[in-house]
Amino acid sequence: MVENILEIKNLNVIYKTKSSFLSEPKTVNAVNDVTLEVKKGEILAIAGESGCGKSTLAKAIMKLVEAQSGEILLENKNILNLKKREELKNFYKKVQIIFQNPYSSLNPKMRIGQILKEPLEINTELSKKEIEEIVKDRIKKVGLDENCLELYPHEFSGGQRQRIAIARALILNPEFIIADEPVSALDVSIQAQIINLLKQLKDESGLTFLFISHDLSVIKYISDRIAVMYLGEIIEIGTTEELFSEPKHPYTKALLSSVPELNPDSKKEIIHLQGELPSPENIPKGCKFHTRCPYAVEKCKTNPPEETIFSDTHKCKCFLYN
Ligand code: SF4
Repeated sequence: MVENILEIKNLNVIYKTKSSFLSEPKTVNAVNDVTLEVKKGEILAIAGESGCGKSTLAKAIMKLVEAQSGEILLENKNILNLKKREELKNFYKKVQIIFQNPYSSLNPKMRIGQILKEPLEINTELSKKEIEEIVKDRIKKVGLDENCLELYPHEFSGGQRQRIAIARALILNPEFIIADEPVSALDVSIQAQIINLLKQLKDESGLTFLFISHDLSVIKYISDRIAVMYLGEIIEIGTTEELFSEPKHPYTKALLSSVPELNPDSKKEIIHLQGELPSPENIPKGCKFHTRCPYAVEKCKTNPPEETIFSDTHKCKCFLYN
């Protein structure tokens, strides 16, 4: 059995909106009781519309936002309790993030060589020569030339900048990388190159990825398993094969229906998403999807559905199966 590299248990991230003279501050449960395991060497995708809590989950794992309750276990240590400088340093050696926007994630005043050296200078005792060798190795790994180490971020295209951001994420030799919408700011023609690079890194180095995206065609291509998130909750999880061939939750079916080329079988159920995603400040009671679900019945409006297990890997929360 493949071991878990990361376990998230009953995680809640709650924040308060600002008050104005028209409204009182409201409590927003951006990540709601999320339990999830990431297996060593896999690419687990988190799918869902913008605003569903995917990026907040990523930030909570990276300790960039505070989680109010629950656990995030990395090698059986709850990272929410890490406070000491040494502990945090060790954590960030193992876990790295690639952000969506390669235009804002690289310091425009630093040469690429310095951007890549910096984490090694701060976090290791390596000699200057050893650091230079690692920097050259990583820049080659992402398909760029050593000459680019002397240049500044503005001298590169979006795709090249994202390659540099990936090289920086790899610099401390992490075990686990969170890729938060890593291609959505790039031209379509460049997206495939970056996705192929991430896939290659996973295959060659045994890296584990949490891959966050709203784009199901990218997710289908890259991921081993998929967790579908709606208003802060995981509502369905399964292998990529299970979710694409036998989606269960009406929301998953609606997401698949919105990409016709992923759903070529005319016998497959087509569900059109009704209305907009409710704002996180006004999360519906009961099943959170009931305001947009064509199958909603009375109890969906008041009671949250339990999880139904279809296989060792496939689970979903919907009254249609309870
Ligand atoms: Fe739709 Fe009810 Fe299932 Fe929610 S629980 S997805 S509202 S049928």
